Amino acid sequence: MINIPAAEKKRVMIVGCGFAGLKLARKLRHSGYQVVIVDKRNYHQFQPLFYQVATAGLEPSAISFPLRKIFQNYKDFYIRIAEVMNIDTEKQQLWTTLGIIQYDYLVLTQGASNFFFGMKTMESLSKPMKSVSEALDLRNTLLQNFENALAATTEEDQEGFLNLVVVGGGPTGVEVSGALADMRKYVIGKDYPELVKEKINIYLVEGMNRLLVALSERSAEKAKEFLERLGVEVILNSQVRNYDGKYIETSDGKKIRTNLVIWTAGITGARIGGLRESSYGKNNRLMVDRFSQVQGYSNIFALGDVALMEEPRFPNGHPQVAPVAIQQARLLAKNLVRTRIQKDLIPFSYKDKGTMATVGRNLAIVELPNARFYGTFAWMVWMFVHLMSIVGIRNRFLILINWFWNYVTYDTSLRLILKPKGC
Ligand SMILES: Cc1cc2nc3c(=O)[nH]c(=O)nc-3n(C[C@H](O)[C@H](O)[C@H](O)COP(=O)(O)OP(=O)(O)OC[C@H]3O[C@@H](n4cnc5c(N)ncnc54)[C@H](O)[C@@H]3O)c2cc1C
Repeated sequence: MINIPAAEKKRVMIVGCGFAGLKLARKLRHSGYQVVIVDKRNYHQFQPLFYQVATAGLEPSAISFPLRKIFQNYKDFYIRIAEVMNIDTEKQQLWTTLGIIQYDYLVLTQGASNFFFGMKTMESLSKPMKSVSEALDLRNTLLQNFENALAATTEEDQEGFLNLVVVGGGPTGVEVSGALADMRKYVIGKDYPELVKEKINIYLVEGMNRLLVALSERSAEKAKEFLERLGVEVILNSQVRNYDGKYIETSDGKKIRTNLVIWTAGITGARIGGLRESSYGKNNRLMVDRFSQVQGYSNIFALGDVALMEEPRFPNGHPQVAPVAIQQARLLAKNLVRTRIQKDLIPFSYKDKGTMATVGRNLAIVELPNARFYGTFAWMVWMFVHLMSIVGIRNRFLILINWFWNYVTYDTSLRLILKPKGC
C-alpha cells in the first residue's frame, strides 16, 4: 500500500488529471471528501493547442501546468504520479506503478489513446499528437526533415523529406495542415533560403467524403476551401492502406513518397485492466448511466473521453471533446456531495455551446447553436475562447504574447530540435 495519510472522510480517487479530472478535483475542494489524484504525468496538458507546439508556434510549457502548482493550498488533496495498471474492484484497490492505493469512490478520467485500425507499421512509423511529448517529437522530426532535405543528394530523397502527409480530416488534422501551410508560407523562406518552398507539399487524407464530420456540410466546405487556398492538397474518400516509412498508400491507388505521416485519424478509450468486459461499449469506452456510474459498479464512475453515455439527443454517446468532460465532471462533483448528504442525484444533460476549428492565420470556422461564421472574426473568437480556457494567468499571458509576436513578425523563435541526452 503506498503512503497516503488516512482520513475519517471517504476517499475519492481520480485517475487522470485532464479536462475531466482537473475540473472534478477543483470542484471537490471543501466537499467533505479526501481527494487523491493519480496521473502518469505531473502536469495537466491543454490538448487543443498541441498542433501549435508541433509546428513551433508555442512552447510546450505554455500549454502544460504542473499539478502540484494547481493544487497548492488544497487541504486533504494528495497527488501521486504513477500509471494506473489495474483495478481490483472487490478489494477497492488500484494497482499503480508506485504500489497499491485504496479507494471508496473511483473516478476514471484517463481519456483516450491513439488508435491505428490495426495498422502496425502506421503505429510504429507515423507521428501521432496525443501528448505534449508526441507534439514535441513531431516538431523535432519536422525540423530535422527540413535540415535533411537541404543535404539530400537525390530528388527522390528530398521529396521524402518535403512531402508532409496528415491523416484524418477532423479538427486536429485540419488545424495541423493549416499550421504547416502557414509555416511553409511565412517561415521556410527565411529559415531555409536554400530550399524551394514550393517543393514542400502538404497532403490531408480523409476516408470520408468531407472534412469535419461533426460540423455542418457548409463548414466542411469552408474548411476545404480555406485549406486549398493555403495550398494544402485535400484528398477525400481515401483510406490509408499502408505506410512503410518511405511511401504511404491509399485505397484509391495513390502512393506518396514521404518520411513524415502525421496521424490524427483515430482514438480509442484508454483501458485499465480489472473491469468486466460487459462494462465496455464501442471504441473501448466505458458505458455509464446519466450519473456517470460505470455499468455494473456502484462506486466507480467514468467521465470524458473514456466514458460512453447515451442521452436521447446523443444516442451513440457524446462527442469526445473538452466541454463534455468538463460538464460531466462539474455535475459528478455536485452529485458526490449530494450522495454524502443523501440527496437525490441530478442526471446529466450535455449543453452544446458550439464547435470551432482554426485553419490558419485569419481563417477559422465557428458553429454556435444559432449561428455560424467563418474567416477573421471566427479566428478571433477561436483565439479568445482558447485563451480563456488555458489554466493559469502566466500561461494565458505567455500564449497571448506569443500569438501577438507571431502575428506581427510572422516569426517565433521556438524552432529548436531538442534531442534526447547524448545527441
Ligand atoms: C490534438 C488534439 C486536439 C484537440 N482539440 C480539441 C478542441 O479544439 N476542442 C475540444 O473541445 N476538444 C479537443 N480535443 C479533445 C479533448 O482534448 C478531449 O476531449 C479531452 O482532453 C478529454 O478530456 P479527458 O479528461 O477525458 O481526458 P484527457 O484530457 O485526455 O486526460 C487524461 C489524463 O489521464 C492521464 N492518464 C491516462 N492514462 C493513465 C493511466 N493509466 N494512469 C494514470 N494516468 C493516466 C493522462 O496523463 C491525462 O492527464 C483535442 C484532442 C487532441 C488530441
